[in-house]
Amino acid sequence: MDTLDTKELWRQILLRLYPTVRHDHFITWFADTAVLRIDGGMLVLGVPTQFAYSWLAQHYRERIIEIAKVLKPEVEDISIVVDAALSNKDDVRKVLLTSIVPDVKKVRKLPNKQEVKVVGSDTVSYMFNPKYTLSNFIVGKHNRLVHAACQAVAANPGSQWNPLFIYGGVGLGKTHLLQGIGREILKNFPDKIVVYFSSERFLNEVVDAIKKFNAHDFKARYRNVDCLIIDDIQLLADKDRTQEEFFHLFNELYNANKQIILSSDRPPKELAGIETRLQSRFEMGMVAETHFPDYETRLAILQNKCSEQQVMLPPEVLDFIAYNIHHSIRELEGVLMQAVAQMRLENVTPTVKSVGAIIRKLDRGSKDLVGVTKEQMDAKLSIRNAEDVINLVADYYRIPSSELRGTLRKREIMLPRQVCMYLIYEVLGHSYDTIGDYFSGRNHTTVLHSYNKVKSKLAKDSKLLQDIHALKKDMGL
Ligand code: ADP
Ligand code: MG
Repeated sequence: MDTLDTKELWRQILLRLYPTVRHDHFITWFADTAVLRIDGGMLVLGVPTQFAYSWLAQHYRERIIEIAKVLKPEVEDISIVVDAALSNKDDVRKVLLTSIVPDVKKVRKLPNKQEVKVVGSDTVSYMFNPKYTLSNFIVGKHNRLVHAACQAVAANPGSQWNPLFIYGGVGLGKTHLLQGIGREILKNFPDKIVVYFSSERFLNEVVDAIKKFNAHDFKARYRNVDCLIIDDIQLLADKDRTQEEFFHLFNELYNANKQIILSSDRPPKELAGIETRLQSRFEMGMVAETHFPDYETRLAILQNKCSEQQVMLPPEVLDFIAYNIHHSIRELEGVLMQAVAQMRLENVTPTVKSVGAIIRKLDRGSKDLVGVTKEQMDAKLSIRNAEDVINLVADYYRIPSSELRGTLRKREIMLPRQVCMYLIYEVLGHSYDTIGDYFSGRNHTTVLHSYNKVKSKLAKDSKLLQDIHALKKDMGL
């Protein structure tokens, strides 16, 4: 790749920019541009007018540098210069754009600047956040599978595991993994075109394309993409037209062995409002879940964050945070960062007490915090997986765990079974599907039903509330 001449380099850059920029904007802003030369590490980009200069500098500069660096490692920066001679030079435009834009006829007329109306930001949220890489994702027992799947896809996109579908609760690392894979693919295969979309952005793209052009153009726009990543696909629920377009795009990319990577807050089958034909396509490749990590991994994430931030916190404070945050890594990081901010601003070392106050504030005081005592630690560490929860509940209600998992529909077993499913969902954050597997392969709707039943009963049944409290206490929560 680094032997590209300037013309080919610019073409390659535009090829990667095109899927991320609105079609009409692309033609407006990039038709008469050219890489003039590369001077030392400086890529000199020529644009025809002052107006184009401002626009490109403001909106695309970073993105162009990012792509250029991948294609030609010696590039360090770009300088944009106005060169009126480029204006409407047919040959530049044709050569450049015919191989990029699907419908060449659309290149014929450039709107003048008064006609260009721009609403909102133009580029897709395409730039990968350098914070998120596969190598700084901390791997523990709970997320080994999903991480391995991401690595396999990054090493070999478009082959074995397609699509890769990652699901899990809020703040459990889905966006981190998706961006990590995208970045890794670009590193391993600089000539591949990788596009990352948030679902909102994808929706806007489709709506835009439908308004301005037609469905054919929408698909054609992505024909060069080698890897399409869409985050939070559950947000496409009930967006029928977008789903329709996505369905066709999916098939086209899939049939061409292009990699598709999706994330969602729940597994394909539980995606209400998403067409079943899409759900079943999502299941064709690899489906992997991000679980809430165990205590050791939470601690490792905190330690890693501290070393990234170059701060040192007392070990018991890190322990305390790891123990008391049970829902998301985002929350875990949030508490840590507040403790760090406190330390920097007030120049005091955070303590278990001061961090406890931070957690209470975030949680509006509703949380029972667990101090770090040996007994609590032991109790907590004894609950590592669904099996531990099942055994605990079986003990508590004095029934054999095999009956709890079994299919017998007796009242004295059904309630404990529902409690058990409820706790696994609440404490370990497993999906309904996964939980169903622990209980003789029940399907997710049964588990969902049990969960809702316990939840609604809790409001009026004080005995049940007491049971749940006692069980949670046994778990060290
Ligand atoms: P989601 O997209 O699932 O809601 P994110 O990917 O935004 O979650 O993750 C929330 C935060 O937690 C991010 O800052 C991310 O870097 C961090 N995070 C999640 N899991 C891990 C992990 N295993 N190792 C390191 N950081 C993690
Ligand atoms: Mg996310």
